[in-house]
Amino acid sequence: MPYRDTWATCEKCGKQFIFTVEEQRRLDNLGFEVTVPSLCPDCMRAEEMSPGPHEGVVKWYDPDKGYGFIIQRSGNEIFFHRSGIGVTGPDRLRIKDGAKVSYRIEPSGKGPQAVDVVPLDEA
Ligand SMILES: [Zn+2]
Repeated sequence: MPYRDTWATCEKCGKQFIFTVEEQRRLDNLGFEVTVPSLCPDCMRAEEMSPGPHEGVVKWYDPDKGYGFIIQRSGNEIFFHRSGIGVTGPDRLRIKDGAKVSYRIEPSGKGPQAVDVVPLDEA
């Protein structure tokens, strides 16, 4: 798919911004859908830290350590603990590196963390 720099307007603050080729490649590499974002980078970062629910990609999860990290669309990484996984049984095995997940964000003593982490069905 040929990428090109695309102008977009933020739905929230009205700022114009460029959805760059680099950004499109980065999203593709992470496994995100490459669509023009409705929010500028600043508003997206703010939105991503709202309670959610959000969608992201598991950067890594270590069942032995009992925690891992989710990459948000902005590239920001958010911690999750085993107790924040919202599925039981075999579905838990789908929480693994590169998996698309939905999650909510809750504050914790060590900063925001992802909870209700649930694997998304691949399209
Ligand atoms: Zn904005």
